[in-house]
Amino acid sequence: MTTRRVIVGCAHCGSRNRVPGDRLGDRPLCGRCKNPLSMDGQYPPQAVQAVDQTLAREVLQFPGPAALYVYSPGCPYCQRMSPIFEGLAAEYAGRIKFVKIMMEQNPMTASRYGVDSVPALILFRHGKVVHQLKGLLPPDEIRRHIQSIA
Ligand SMILES: [Zn+2]
Repeated sequence: MTTRRVIVGCAHCGSRNRVPGDRLGDRPLCGRCKNPLSMDGQYPPQAVQAVDQTLAREVLQFPGPAALYVYSPGCPYCQRMSPIFEGLAAEYAGRIKFVKIMMEQNPMTASRYGVDSVPALILFRHGKVVHQLKGLLPPDEIRRHIQSIA
């Protein structure tokens, strides 16, 4: 299996480190100054908004664990799910990437993953689907699934 590498800039010395994608969650150190590399840029504390055209870059080519949330702003279940998802993004900052995408505006993504109702949650590792969840679930159950890809 080939592992993609991502460039992570060191906040301490400014050098650019090439980190294997599957090691992003292992708190890697800067090769030059040995300080911990900040993963904030890779795994921000809030969900990244994607569209059909950016899904490949944000999720499919992303080498680490990622959670994709498909939603509709007007859906009452999504209105309950969205704060849970954002809360988990903050909780798992630095370890899992959280991406959200609106269903109706992004038919390519919806059809690719067979999403015909929202909310839906698709969990990826190395750009491959490892789990798919449908509907509004209790926060603890969502957390348990998210935890499994960390
Ligand atoms: Zn450094």
